[in-house]
Amino acid sequence: MLDSIFEVIFLIGLILYLFGVYGPSARQYKKRRITDNRMRKLDIFLDGFTYMGWQVIPVIYVLTSWLDFANYSLPVWAGRAGVVIFAATLFLLWKAYSDLGRNWSPTLQITDNHLLVTQGIYQYIRHPIYAGLWLWGIAQPLLLQNWIAGLGLLVTFFPLYFLRVPYEEKMMHETFGKEYQEYVDKTGQIIPRFWK
Ligand code: SAH
Repeated sequence: MLDSIFEVIFLIGLILYLFGVYGPSARQYKKRRITDNRMRKLDIFLDGFTYMGWQVIPVIYVLTSWLDFANYSLPVWAGRAGVVIFAATLFLLWKAYSDLGRNWSPTLQITDNHLLVTQGIYQYIRHPIYAGLWLWGIAQPLLLQNWIAGLGLLVTFFPLYFLRVPYEEKMMHETFGKEYQEYVDKTGQIIPRFWK
């Protein structure tokens, strides 16, 4: 329970993300009208599963000692590397949410006057928010040195990423057609296409 500075940093980062990044977008989203909802039952499951490994289990770990039986311990430099990666993650997520602006939605949806964003961080990669979650997944086991809480996000986000991205891109293709194809040709999913 809050037994290292790294756990405190994780908690502060999560709060910053929830109130400073996710919150403002969620409030904007509530005001919008959904014109095309592609959410499957599978997506509800995937979101819930990821939420457990990303936020619920880590918060339980940090605030109680229930999971301490599964602790491991890393050298201090690994925790420090975790802090650096975590800071980069929060910056990337902040940038992605602000570039996507009012076109953000929590799952697969098209809203009224939806614009295809190809600017800001989106000019390099098509899925900066998902890239941010992978990075968060790498920082988490360095900050929360516990097999269950540390690996929670990597394990739960793995199926979400691979089951959602093809379906999300199909929706974008059907909505934006040629414009999206041109965008796909110029960008990478989570790693920029430096070679083009
Ligand atoms: N996959 C993106 C966005 C996740 S939010 C990322 O990782 O950054 C999911 C919603 O964002 C989708 O339902 C879609 O409506 C919207 N979206 C995704 N990419 C977009 C883009 N380039 N322009 C506009 N909206 C986009």
